[in-house]
Amino acid sequence: MKFTRFTQGSSIYTGVVTENTIKEIKGDIYGDWEYTGKTFLAADVTLLAPLEPNQIIGIGANYVFKLEDLPSELPEIPVFFFKPTSSVIGPEEDIVIPEGIEKVKFESELVIVIGKEAKNVPESEVLDYVFGYTVGNDVTAPQFFHKDGHWTIGKSFDTFTPLGPVIETELDPFAVKVEAKLNGVEKQNSATKLMIIPIRRMVSYLTHMMTLKPGDVILTGSPVGAEFVGAGDSIECVIEEIGTLRNSYVLAKESVKSN
Ligand code: MG
Repeated sequence: MKFTRFTQGSSIYTGVVTENTIKEIKGDIYGDWEYTGKTFLAADVTLLAPLEPNQIIGIGANYVFKLEDLPSELPEIPVFFFKPTSSVIGPEEDIVIPEGIEKVKFESELVIVIGKEAKNVPESEVLDYVFGYTVGNDVTAPQFFHKDGHWTIGKSFDTFTPLGPVIETELDPFAVKVEAKLNGVEKQNSATKLMIIPIRRMVSYLTHMMTLKPGDVILTGSPVGAEFVGAGDSIECVIEEIGTLRNSYVLAKESVKSN
């Protein structure tokens, strides 16, 4: 099932996507919800990020280029970071390059959406706590990384976390590829089995450190091939089974001008 949020006119709706239509729902997507009976043509609405996340957690440098490169031992303390919820935008919205720099990086990623409160969850049960999956772009300005290794500022600017187009609840996360196309040219294309810290390990580890809640999202890291892009560039982050998340980059002063 594919969940989405969207606008038509001044209202915000939640719905389930079926072919070319979206059926409106009301209620809690993680719990009890029902169809309202109202249906929209997908072509007549503007998609938003498919959820307003509770917390956003990312993991650093989590892919190898080929299976033989996977380390025999996993790092004892994986590199996680938080991104602010204010950095979230939806499909087709502009990514704003902060003032003072001209390039930022794209990072196409599989994003886990947690559906149930999760504390001390063993690896074998992790998938029971996952509501579904979406696509994310972990936009990054390494120029703002602190020299001591802190990434927070460089990951946190407004518009730096595009999510969408939908949350797919029936995905097999181990059987998909994470792709990025820059101006139509493929830059990233890796199977999720090239993750260094696999999904079950990643989520289980986190739940032993902190309680995860419905609406928490985890950006699972980006394949080899992320690079710097600038104003006018268009990026498509793609997981075929979920959809394409397309955004364009603009300079801060251009985005001010157009507002
Ligand atoms: Mg990343």
